[in-house]
Amino acid sequence: SDLDAEPTLEARERHAELSRELDEHQYRYYILQSPSVDDSVYDRFMRELEAIEAEYPALITPDSPSQRVGGTFSTDFAAVTHAERMLSLDNALNDAELDAWVERIERDAGQQPRYLCELKIDGLAVNLTYKKGRLVRAATRGDGRTGEDITLNVRTIRDVPERLTGDDLPALLEVRGEVFFTLAGFEEVNAAQVAAGENPFANPRNAASGSLRQKDPRITASRPMRMLVHGFGAREGFNPVSQSEAYELMHAWGLPTSERWKVFDDLKGVRSYIADYGDKRHKIEHEIDGVVVKVDQMSIQRRLGSTSKAPRWAIAFKYPPEEAMTKLLDIEVNV
Ligand code: NAD
Repeated sequence: SDLDAEPTLEARERHAELSRELDEHQYRYYILQSPSVDDSVYDRFMRELEAIEAEYPALITPDSPSQRVGGTFSTDFAAVTHAERMLSLDNALNDAELDAWVERIERDAGQQPRYLCELKIDGLAVNLTYKKGRLVRAATRGDGRTGEDITLNVRTIRDVPERLTGDDLPALLEVRGEVFFTLAGFEEVNAAQVAAGENPFANPRNAASGSLRQKDPRITASRPMRMLVHGFGAREGFNPVSQSEAYELMHAWGLPTSERWKVFDDLKGVRSYIADYGDKRHKIEHEIDGVVVKVDQMSIQRRLGSTSKAPRWAIAFKYPPEEAMTKLLDIEVNV
């Protein structure tokens, strides 16, 4: 609008520099699977970009890294268009950002919702399409609209049921979840890599991503991957009133849901959940990089809606990094 300030030359230049930097890091992370900076460094670049865009909205274009779901798809696999888009999550990097999110939610919703807390598993997002209870396709997130068809690979994961069981199975259900390695499974797969003269994987997330993208599903089958459900996309005949009810229904049909999610009435409960798992995060059998907080009631989720990149009704609280990687590309980090 006319009220928006014209971006200064300095802001334009920094914006362009940060956009290039973030694009490069996304390429290294999602495509090469070999990031050159720690996630916390990446998150700070993104924050700085968002701050510039908040000051100068004219700089927000649809191709800005702040507006896109990161990632893409490889032509080694058939392309799959998701029936409903797969989004990313916004982050809260500290308590103040979590408080600000809760304040905004309660203002925009006009009421205090219940909050569902669960662990943020560091794996790979998958979209499982069930028709009348039968698994018909599995795909990676890709750029959020189009992913890769990895059905044959996902069928080798024991946690993923081929058929749902029970009454009232929905005509269509896109189940969203995370495929990951436990720490023990990760050690096992890396020992096998080394024994076979191959390079070990840098972390469990890379191992999951590499293992799901095998051309030969027998290789995937030989690796002890797990899956946990954390949401749903398109649906017909599935009308839960809350996220927690959706998990209970999906669990009853045989889908693997976490035993660690909890629903709280207020921010105080959310804070205690975050503090609790902050203390015991290293005692969990898989890597976590934070806690995801979601508005539980579907009616309030709908009212809040989504941006082009993430739902407004959810946030990923990220624990502070424990060791900072120092290798940077070519620009300074503004702390
Ligand atoms: P994200 O990984 O921060 O959050 C979204 C994803 O979380 C979802 O797609 C889902 O797969 C996963 N998830 C795990 N548990 C979940 C749960 N309980 N509920 C819902 N979702 C859950 O977002 P992203 O867009 O995949 O990646 C962005 C992040 O990736 C950045 O914040 C940064 O940490 C990292 N990254 C790092 C680099 C780098 O160079 N180091 C580059 C790009 C991205």
